Amino acid sequence: MDRIPVGRPIDPAPVWPNGAKAAVSFTFDVDAECGWLGESDSYKRRLSTLTEGRFSVTRGVPRILEILASTGIHGTFYVPGDTADRHPDAVKAMINGGHEIAHHGYAHLRSDSVSEQSQREEIERGLEALGRHGISGAMGYRSPSWELTPETFEMLIEFGFLYDSSAMGDDRPYIETLGDRSILEIPVHWSLDDWPYFAWMVEAGGRLADPDMVRKLWLEEFRQACSESRMVTYTMHPEVIGRGYRIEMLRAVINQIKDSGDAWIATHSEVARIAVPAGS
Ligand SMILES: [Zn+2]
Repeated sequence: MDRIPVGRPIDPAPVWPNGAKAAVSFTFDVDAECGWLGESDSYKRRLSTLTEGRFSVTRGVPRILEILASTGIHGTFYVPGDTADRHPDAVKAMINGGHEIAHHGYAHLRSDSVSEQSQREEIERGLEALGRHGISGAMGYRSPSWELTPETFEMLIEFGFLYDSSAMGDDRPYIETLGDRSILEIPVHWSLDDWPYFAWMVEAGGRLADPDMVRKLWLEEFRQACSESRMVTYTMHPEVIGRGYRIEMLRAVINQIKDSGDAWIATHSEVARIAVPAGS
């Protein structure tokens, strides 16, 4: 038997609190320097690229925290252990804001590019680092670059994570199963991620899209989600969404979703607590 996962819907489907038509989560992957260092050691000599990663915590995170506070919502921050160790004050600010902090590896190593032992160390060292900075028992996991191997999948159940947010097999929370192991999946998609629209890299180029266009697409997704009583997860990177002309797009998206009166805006662990009893 090959080790290919299968998905099944949660039955009965989750009912969102307060009669909301859709659940919405705003999530932030705080990759900072290790987003590059985890790709290749060659980035140790590419200081300009590393500073673009550092912008994530110096400017991006504070701007995001201000918007979340002023709109009165909470987000989920996926923080690699390396980022927590390098930038403890940024983690402190997330905790003080009442936000969820979840697991995103230690050195941001893509699980499909390293050994099984390294995958285990990524999980263990990530948990230890979050623990050093006051986060015990992270409930959620998101794999670096959204690549998830069968080995890491099995470790998520072994380490007791409540949910994963790395896969794309549905646009509703669902149960992802591999062999005899299952986990709640809160799915993602590239089209709801800021990186493909805005990131630009010297070798690969990029799109540098108009934020008004992205705002329109993201709000269309929310409206369609309302018509199906489902959920939307938006994924952002503080060094990407946190640039001046883009951050106001995030504020506009949050305000328009809030003003619709149709959304339950929640962290991923709050969504998981609603979804898991329905699926278990
Ligand atoms: Zn990442």
